[in-house]
Amino acid sequence: MELKYKRRNVYEEADGKRLEAIYSYAEGYKKFLDVSKTERDAAYAAEKLAREKGFTPFSFSEKLKAGDKRYFINRHKNVFLIKVGTEDVAKEGVRIMVAHVDSPRLDLKPNPMYEENGLCYFKTHYYGGIKKYQWTAIPLALHGVVMLRGGERREICVGEEEGDPVFYITDLLPHLAQEQVAKPMSKAIEGESLNAVIGGLPAVGDEDEKEKVKSTILKLLNKKYGFTEVDLQCSELCLVPAGKARDVGFDGALISAYGHDDKVCAYPEMCALFDSEQSPHTLMAVFADKEEVGSDGTTGMQSRVICDVIDTIAASFGANPIEVRYNSKCISADVTAGYDPAYSSVFEKRNSTYVHCGAAVSKYTGARGKSSTNDAPAEYAAFVRDIFDDNNVYWQVGELGAVDNGGGGTVAKYIANLGIDTIDVGVPVLSMHAPYELISKADVFALYEACLAFCK
Ligand code: MN
Ligand code: MN
Repeated sequence: MELKYKRRNVYEEADGKRLEAIYSYAEGYKKFLDVSKTERDAAYAAEKLAREKGFTPFSFSEKLKAGDKRYFINRHKNVFLIKVGTEDVAKEGVRIMVAHVDSPRLDLKPNPMYEENGLCYFKTHYYGGIKKYQWTAIPLALHGVVMLRGGERREICVGEEEGDPVFYITDLLPHLAQEQVAKPMSKAIEGESLNAVIGGLPAVGDEDEKEKVKSTILKLLNKKYGFTEVDLQCSELCLVPAGKARDVGFDGALISAYGHDDKVCAYPEMCALFDSEQSPHTLMAVFADKEEVGSDGTTGMQSRVICDVIDTIAASFGANPIEVRYNSKCISADVTAGYDPAYSSVFEKRNSTYVHCGAAVSKYTGARGKSSTNDAPAEYAAFVRDIFDDNNVYWQVGELGAVDNGGGGTVAKYIANLGIDTIDVGVPVLSMHAPYELISKADVFALYEACLAFCK
């Protein structure tokens, strides 16, 4: 019997075969990441994969039966994958995994276009928690939709393909930044200065003397997509870091990419559901939207849509939906801050989670005195522990940072507030919310194995 707890490093214990499994899983994850930069992109990718796996569209008015595999895409952004099991759903509930697929970024304002001194710009409004200075002087891609009159939708993705142009927010040269660099970091780049350059060619033969570049851009956009400036008022367009996920290190042990938070959890939970054909449980994998801005709205986890889906499952079997929820179990799959030796003072090293050490379990999140958290009951933490240990899952447990250094939250509390046992299990991330975040291939694979064990 081991009397002392010792955190295990996946890579230290991995043999050649395991290493190969970890690295090959990472290839699939990177592919998913590259096409899932926004929640809409991720929902589209999930729908495509679900169809390939034989899933068919869900309806609130249908009667589900054991073996059914359904997908429900709530308003293009919020995904529910459902696999109906053979066991009694009233007694056993639903095994739910929730990850969010929105990531911090720069949304366009409703009237985003303007021209100044021969340059045309998009004005932005940042989405989620960002350090604004990190978003200047990097290549940005434009993703999203514009709605035309009559309900026609134009999908836009510029800046990801080889040869595509990108967009760019300028920063001040160091030579003239004497005053800027002396400011506190939060003031050095202001929200209203996050304006992206989108063009510089004046329209030829344009009788309007003002805004000639803007005329060029609007002509281009109208020719390609058929919309005019006013249509941008009914759009959802955002700027995200351009480019693909990349291996990091000579050995490629890690991956840097935009939006690991929280696609690094969405991908494993989805794979686990797909790979659990034989499970007796009724399984649900959810891709949530709006987590980075408080989980409100029709596609966020505070919406009652998740309840409605569970109620539909309950009704299919004549079960009491209250009982189904009470007996359901949830993994809130979200990232946590991995211990970063470069910033050790904000962590408490005995209660941090570490890269390469497996799925990171957080019994609670929140700030200060555990404010605003789902603090998972010891009984449920133990339930999950037993599942993980019985299936040789690499996992670790910790807090987001040292006490009183800030804090954070996940969707866990919103699921728990429905009366569903919930615990946070995710992947430790370095440089979280930066344009390019860092994770270990060992940990995304460990989370996949954790989700598989939960589904089993
Ligand atoms: Mn997150
Ligand atoms: Mn986040």
